Amino acid sequence: MRRAAICTLVVGAALALAAFAAESSVGAGSSGQSGTTGTTAGTPALAPAPKIVKDPIPFGADRKEQMRRYSEIHYGIDSYHIVGPHLVIWHYTASATFSSVWNTFAQDVPDVQYHVLPQVCAHFVIDTNGTIYQLVPLNIMCRQVVGLDYTAIGIENVGFSDQQVMGDRAQYHAALELTRWLRCKYGLPVKDVIGHNESLSSPYYIEHVASWRGQTHQDFDHHDMQIVRAAVARLPCS
Ligand SMILES: [Zn+2]
Repeated sequence: MRRAAICTLVVGAALALAAFAAESSVGAGSSGQSGTTGTTAGTPALAPAPKIVKDPIPFGADRKEQMRRYSEIHYGIDSYHIVGPHLVIWHYTASATFSSVWNTFAQDVPDVQYHVLPQVCAHFVIDTNGTIYQLVPLNIMCRQVVGLDYTAIGIENVGFSDQQVMGDRAQYHAALELTRWLRCKYGLPVKDVIGHNESLSSPYYIEHVASWRGQTHQDFDHHDMQIVRAAVARLPCS
């Protein structure tokens, strides 16, 4: 049941364009992220975080409970809190604007592909001008990749192909800098910066629902992620 589809978010983003008025009101609750690169005595300072614009989607008690339930069913984890994280996962949105993606993620209705709650999301969305937006705290799971949500931070890039994102200097640079910061903050090896299309080969893959196994999308495949990982490997942590 391999789909030719792109990201989970894609179709939803297109629908959102038509369906929702922009609701960029940001609630007060961008909690849960340390937001610092904090140093401890005796360890070298981490490279600073890139500029991140906080633009949180609503993620209240209902959505947290939906995420907890999803996590219990699909991962056997009775929590909506991220384990680790152990992965940074790259995506593209297959949509043209940040606002359409934000609106899709914010509207907590069953997703358009699997028709379950909570709605899909990603922790970060990078616009084509290189602006990095954070939508979800780093300690909360987002449904972004079947089999890996429990342990992955998701980065969505506004655009329609790996090549478009990697050919956009501002956006690609921002994505690399964000990846550097996350990788270093959590001490992740470069190999655990992966593309959505590489999800099935990750050793962290867990899917308890048999009919969901084998699902992936085409965004950021192995060939392109080899280029990304080589670039990430050249970015030191301190
Ligand atoms: Zn994706």
